[in-house]
Amino acid sequence: MDLQLTGKVAVVTGGSAGIGLAVAQGLAAEGAHLALCARDETRLRAAAAQFPDDVRVLTVAADLAVPAEAERVAAAVTAEYGGADILINNAGTGSDETILDAPDERWQAYWELHVMAAVRLARSLAPGMKARGGGVILHNASICATQPLGYEPIYNVTKAALVMFSKCLANELIGDNIRVNAVNPGLVMTGDWVKTAKQLTAGTDQSWQDYLQKIADDNAPIGRFATPEEIADFFVFLCSPRAGYAVGSTYYVDGGWLNVTT
Ligand code: NDP
Repeated sequence: MDLQLTGKVAVVTGGSAGIGLAVAQGLAAEGAHLALCARDETRLRAAAAQFPDDVRVLTVAADLAVPAEAERVAAAVTAEYGGADILINNAGTGSDETILDAPDERWQAYWELHVMAAVRLARSLAPGMKARGGGVILHNASICATQPLGYEPIYNVTKAALVMFSKCLANELIGDNIRVNAVNPGLVMTGDWVKTAKQLTAGTDQSWQDYLQKIADDNAPIGRFATPEEIADFFVFLCSPRAGYAVGSTYYVDGGWLNVTT
């Protein structure tokens, strides 16, 4: 299937690792040019260096939880490429707190990263997409937007807000031929999971691999984590005109984990 993405400009936040990097690789394999954003410049540059020479990759080191940074990222993209056709709002991270103990500042920081970064990037980049004849904006939320994990209420709440933002933005932009959707992944084997598993099993009888396998067995009917590439392929398809009727939806890619049937 020709996904018709050759020459498109794709901005991927959190594009230096995990799902974001896999999405960037998937888009590049389809002929897209890239703009990758993340905080750690060294890791970002190392990720960009992995791409073949014929893939154009702009890197912008930025902390998207800081209000002014989204606009700076958008300005760099516009300076390099004249605008963007695809925006993947992927940067995000889990949390760990109780509602009664977490101060306002903690809520605000996750709100800035998971919701306001997407708001600001849409505001900065969507007018250019419209001028280019249309585009695609995708949000990487989480199954936790619907089915919360107990240890991370702030993550659950802000990801739920991101899904609603995605729906509202879709309604506002479809008239400009900009398709907006969200993806809710389940368990995806990225660096954070491995790091946490190693920390929690250090000095115990359980291997970190067994620890993660138990999480998969306990939660996902498929009995395993997804690879980042499995999630990325879904994103890449949604970016394509071949997914042209996909508008304002939220797609679960979760190995059967979601229990809600509404
Ligand atoms: P990783 O930790 O592997 O990668 C996260 C990426 O986001 C990195 O590039 C990181 O770079 C960047 N990032 C983090 N914070 C910021 C910030 N403040 N500003 C700019 N960039 C930032 O995460 P995953 O690939 O696992 O997760 C990607 C997205 O997928 C997240 O939104 C996550 O919530 C979601 N998700 C993940 C699941 C999983 O099981 N892995 C399941 C469901 C959803 P740097 O640290 O240098 O800034």
